[in-house]
Amino acid sequence: MKVFSVKELANNYIAGLKNNGTTIGLIPTMGALHQGHLSLIQQAKEENDLVVVSIFVNPTQFNNSDDLDKYPRTLEEDLAKLESVHCDLVFTPEANDMYSENEKAEIFNFDGLDQVMEGAFRDNHFNGVGTIVKKLFETLLPDNAYFGEKDFQQLQIIRKLTTITKQPVKIIGCPIHRDPDGLAMSSRNMRLTKEHREAAPFIHQTLLAAKEMAKNTTPKQLENWVVDKFNNHPNLVLEYFSIAKEEDLKSISTFNNHSKYRGFIAVFAGDIRLIDNIALY
Ligand code: AMP
Repeated sequence: MKVFSVKELANNYIAGLKNNGTTIGLIPTMGALHQGHLSLIQQAKEENDLVVVSIFVNPTQFNNSDDLDKYPRTLEEDLAKLESVHCDLVFTPEANDMYSENEKAEIFNFDGLDQVMEGAFRDNHFNGVGTIVKKLFETLLPDNAYFGEKDFQQLQIIRKLTTITKQPVKIIGCPIHRDPDGLAMSSRNMRLTKEHREAAPFIHQTLLAAKEMAKNTTPKQLENWVVDKFNNHPNLVLEYFSIAKEEDLKSISTFNNHSKYRGFIAVFAGDIRLIDNIALY
């Protein structure tokens, strides 16, 4: 497994391989790797000649410096995990290699995809995500890039990003990987207290119940039902539950069989913010 921390060296190496026809699969991550990340790598290994994982805690996508500082950084363990799944190349740049001094996020027009849900609660977050993903694509030249449905809104925004930037990358969405009790795997889970970790599977349980109910309710009734469930919960605090069309992430007033809909949720377990989503139709 090759490890590059300098942008130019990684780019030269990959450009050389691409000249020989090697296909590149990229999994962008912020590290603190878990089985969810490894499932993306597994899929990429089946579909590409060379699998590249980037590990970079991207400052421009955090609107809260405390959250950025507290983001777990576990590079040694990450490299051991990547070695164990036969990742071919790891890119772990320093911030000053990816950004010039005082550089801010580029502003993109994501056609409103970035204005709802995570975008409404995390100011400028998706411009930061778009900025770093565009730079990673420029540097690592992937043919295919893998993103988890765990961050479904992000996945749709990255799809839009490639239509804006015209970068020749196929974006592939991968299913949500969960712990056996249903909690969506996340790097943040390791920061949960024992009490909050025990409570957290309630999020997925509620989404599963909502999926059942979706057949017989309107979206608004269902949203209100989920709000009530969390209002009655002793130690999880709902930030939002929104039902939206998968394609444009617009909220809806009725379900119909011609479109795909998802329920999207963000919940505070103490000061740890957890997100999840579920296909409803
Ligand atoms: P992160 O390191 O949290 O930025 O995540 C890197 C990539 O892994 C993103 O595309 C995430 O959507 C994806 N990912 C994170 N957790 C999961 C999970 N539990 N299941 C599937 N994909 C995931």
